[in-house]
Amino acid sequence: MGHQELHVHLEGALSLDFLLSVHQENNPGFTHDDLISLFDYQDFRGFIGVWISHQKLLFQNSVSWEKRVHLMVQDFFERLEREHIEYTEAHISPIDAMWCVFGPQVTKNQERYQELLLAWDSAFSYWNQKIPNKARYIIDLVLNYPQEIMLWQWQNLKEVLPRLTSIAGIGIGGGNSQRQRISFKDVFWEARSLGLLTVCHAGELPPKIEALEEVSQALEIGAQRIGHGIHGISDPKILERLAANQVIVEISPSSNLFTKSIQSLEELPFSLLKEWQIPFCINSDDPTYFHTTLAREIKLVEAFL
Ligand SMILES: [Zn+2]
Repeated sequence: MGHQELHVHLEGALSLDFLLSVHQENNPGFTHDDLISLFDYQDFRGFIGVWISHQKLLFQNSVSWEKRVHLMVQDFFERLEREHIEYTEAHISPIDAMWCVFGPQVTKNQERYQELLLAWDSAFSYWNQKIPNKARYIIDLVLNYPQEIMLWQWQNLKEVLPRLTSIAGIGIGGGNSQRQRISFKDVFWEARSLGLLTVCHAGELPPKIEALEEVSQALEIGAQRIGHGIHGISDPKILERLAANQVIVEISPSSNLFTKSIQSLEELPFSLLKEWQIPFCINSDDPTYFHTTLAREIKLVEAFL
């Protein structure tokens, strides 16, 4: 039987062959070895750096966005088939693509942003018709941008929402921003009232005191799933809230090892989650960037489950 995957970034799951072909659009001499050497980073910053450089490559050159996202979604669906994944909810980050192209002028390009949202939706809907109910997507509002950009995204998303057929919900991902998750509270509650799922990355990295605060804020804003959460759930009050609301904790083992969020798999909080009867799932996060597959992730932690 196939598995489900609830925490995977589509841009982080593109195949090496696909990325190679995109590099070669601009640079025909770019080789497979050149591509592999890009993935030689040692920490979270290095990983994010390559991730962003690929966003630029994907969206800055001459290929139309509509065609680009169609091919990205096709590549993603091929991965689902290849890995026998039955269903997935994939994060996508259209704001990163917009920022790569327009920089701080991003909010002046409302039409382009809405076009991009519709292009993503149409690509998902197209492939879902070929392979029914295979994947929906989560729009990542990305924590790192200023508050007005978050509100701008939400406003635009709401305007096109009636036309979107493959959307699952909205989420907050992004790097080590100090920005508070609490500022998403109104947006998250409004999204839920519109029938959208709300998910939030929180507690991914130590120190524990900050991770606990992040998870606490994720719960406060009504997140229905927590991305990672691993360093921020040791407090009984938080465990109680996770259990009471049956908030799903999304564990991504290789991602956590790769970004040095943990030193060994023994640090993952499976015993706490089981003891408190908190639902959790296993995920690959950015499988291409962490050299993994969903099946491999499940195998890695099998002994703890
Ligand atoms: Zn993630």
